[in-house]
Amino acid sequence: MKIQAAVSRDGQPVPQIEEVDLEAPRIDEVRVRIVATGICHTDLHCHSGRGMPVPKPIVLGHEGAGIVEEVGDGVRGLKVGDPVVLSGGSCGLCPSCRAARPTYCRDTMKLSFAGMRLDGSSPLSQHGERLAGAFFAQSSFASHVVVPERSAVKVPEDAPLHLLGPLGCGIITGAGSVIEAFRLRPGQSLVVFGVGSVGLAAIMAARLSGASSIVAVDVAQERLDLALQLGATAALRSDTTTLGALQEIEPFGFNFSFNTTAAPPVYTMAIECLANEGTAGFVTRPQGEWALNVGALLAGGRKLQGILGGSAAPQLFIPLLIDHWRHGRFPFDRLVTQFAFHDIAAAWSACTTGSAVKPVLVM
Ligand SMILES: [Zn+2]
Ligand SMILES: [Zn+2]
Repeated sequence: MKIQAAVSRDGQPVPQIEEVDLEAPRIDEVRVRIVATGICHTDLHCHSGRGMPVPKPIVLGHEGAGIVEEVGDGVRGLKVGDPVVLSGGSCGLCPSCRAARPTYCRDTMKLSFAGMRLDGSSPLSQHGERLAGAFFAQSSFASHVVVPERSAVKVPEDAPLHLLGPLGCGIITGAGSVIEAFRLRPGQSLVVFGVGSVGLAAIMAARLSGASSIVAVDVAQERLDLALQLGATAALRSDTTTLGALQEIEPFGFNFSFNTTAAPPVYTMAIECLANEGTAGFVTRPQGEWALNVGALLAGGRKLQGILGGSAAPQLFIPLLIDHWRHGRFPFDRLVTQFAFHDIAAAWSACTTGSAVKPVLVM
């Protein structure tokens, strides 16, 4: 069928909306009419070529939410009309998938960045030419997508689909890191470096989990103000005095630090501010040279932990987050700014400049 999709090509500042062809779903796939999709920094970086390499032209987008319109013959868990939130792809067979840790699937990187199914095919084409259309197994900057049943998470009938897309990446990454990866317990302390959507989701999850001390660190005052409203107990402007200020707040150090930035000095500080046996979690690579001080880990029995997708299983964790949101315990909707799909250029720029914490394109 003919659909509208925002296509990323080399040399263009912003993806352009074009008409493209979408295949029918295969036996284990579903077609979803996208209602709304978030924009994540990974989309910006893959478009500009500063992130993981992706084949161009490609349709990016990996925070989609919508309605199932057609199901493959082998699909048993979803039916036409079901509301779904889309997550990343996973194989379903490897040890991590079997342990409900699909973000550490052996095929995660290929399913995220190759833009194709594992067999090298793509559900999208244009004028008979293949178009990369399986970015994070979804390519959701589009009116419709064909995705594996496995990566579509059924949500309650009355759930607000125009808000839910970011639960599939940014929000699950922040909240899952605290709840699933750290397993933070009541009374423990957390410092979050960088309070965009991922960091703010971590702060809301820490409050939900009963953390005693939740400190937000960022360069932008308006983000820090929002962090305080969402559960941070203190907020610090990031500068040369930050480590000293953190040591004043927690003289014995923090149980956990959560680094959402790519700044090498923050990687160092995120270890130095820890209590003995504390854990420093990070979600992206340092941009530029950074040397790990192994001594700082060894002396306090500290851990450095890479975290993808919050270590959470989307099929279990997204419904849980929606339930917390319904009860007013997880107000992630406060991070969302909506844009019409045809205003993708404005949304792109709001994401780049940070004027919107979490831009969402509404179809
Ligand atoms: Zn993302
Ligand atoms: Zn797997």
